[in-house]
Order: sequence, then C-alpha cells, then structure tokens
Amino acid sequence: MNTTEKSKLSNEKTLEAMKNFSETYAKRTGTYFCSEPSVTAVVIEGLAKHKDELGAPLCPCRHYEDKEAEVKAAYWNCPCIPMRERKECHCMLFLTPDNDFAGTNQEIGMDQIQAVRDTM
Ligand code: SF4
Repeated sequence: MNTTEKSKLSNEKTLEAMKNFSETYAKRTGTYFCSEPSVTAVVIEGLAKHKDELGAPLCPCRHYEDKEAEVKAAYWNCPCIPMRERKECHCMLFLTPDNDFAGTNQEIGMDQIQAVRDTM
C-alpha cells in the first residue's frame, strides 16, 4: 500500500477510539457484533474516517448530499437516534441477540480491523 492509499484510511488513534466506543456501547446496550468480524471492522473504520474528516462519527452506511449539514443535524451521528431509541443499527455494528447475524462478541481485535483495512 502506498502513502496516498494510506491517507484514505482513518488515523490509528481515531480508529482505536472508535473501536473502544463500539465495545463499550455494545456492552452497555446488550448488543453484539456481527458473526462476520469483517462487517464490524468496516463499520468501525468508516466511523473513524468520518470522525477524522468531519469531527463527528457520522454513520458510514448512508449516502448524504451534505455531510457537514448532517453532522450538525446530529440524527446520524453514532450512536444514531434509531439505535438510541429502538436499538436499530442498519450498519449491523450493534445487533440484538435475536438477530440472525448476531455473534457472541462485544469486542474485536485491532488485528482483525487491521486485516480488513489492509484490503481497502
Ligand atoms: S446505524 Fe446508527 S448505531 Fe449503527 S453504525 Fe450507523 S450511526 Fe452507529
């Protein structure tokens, strides 16, 4: 991977902060990461990238006409309102135990996230 490609990824410190946030929030809400860890890794990387670019972890699984305006509106800043109100995470980062895709983990290794980043 060359330097230009690397700059498209999030800062390592931000990435670690979003990983820690995701683990803490899953435990607090009784939700679980996807049984396929690459799903979790991609979402955490996407949140970290938005945090670097926009100053807030705007949901990475949506299309926005104006990202800055969305950050100000705050509805889709993670954890978004649907997650806070109804435990609905359409990114499949936080899954309730009854979800078919829910795994048994509320933690993910930096090595697992890094492995996915290496493919980006
Ligand atoms: S859907 Fe909501 S809770 Fe899930 S990653 Fe996006 S902003 Fe976060």
